Amino acid sequence: MLAADFLHLSESADIVNRYADIFHLDIMDGRFVPNISFGFPVVEAIAKIAKRPMDVHLMIQHPQVYIERFAATGAKMISFHLEAVHDPEPVLGLIKNNGCKAGLVINPDKPVESLFPYLEECDYILLMSVFAGFGGQKFIEDTYDRIRILKAEIVRRGLKTQIEIDGGVSPANAKLLAEAGADILVAGSAVFKSENPRETINQMKL
Ligand code: ZN
Repeated sequence: MLAADFLHLSESADIVNRYADIFHLDIMDGRFVPNISFGFPVVEAIAKIAKRPMDVHLMIQHPQVYIERFAATGAKMISFHLEAVHDPEPVLGLIKNNGCKAGLVINPDKPVESLFPYLEECDYILLMSVFAGFGGQKFIEDTYDRIRILKAEIVRRGLKTQIEIDGGVSPANAKLLAEAGADILVAGSAVFKSENPRETINQMKL
């Protein structure tokens, strides 16, 4: 939704409701990332019209402080950055205790192996395929190999942890991402800047 038209948010939400599966909401605090996106008033407004589950991606310091409030908006998935906490396990537990699926996120420069100690506690892993903090960046090609490494470890351990990819996703790379092992694709600019969002989404679902 970061790429949505904020003057016509209900029209952007309608595209998600009709053609996509999940509302992905990027929360930036101007501290963990240099940018500031939007906060509770916008999330609560989207919650009122969302017919699909809300997936909150926290790019913020001290995510543990805000888990309960985001869960109270009706969010079904909440993720935060491994780089933002000292110990992710209690935060993952807090998210699950609030009735949400818990996700851990890493930026493209963080080794995938840094997630391995926490895989059992994660319902999903969000691999950034651009650096967190800004919409509209170019997709980083290393992402395919990172998905393969992560997927192999998830399969080896017999886990159900899903892999979500966020950043520069478009019809040009969606199929390759799915083939590498991605379960959830987040697309922003590709959809909302498209002349035909429905067709763009359908192309990525193939
Ligand atoms: Zn995101």
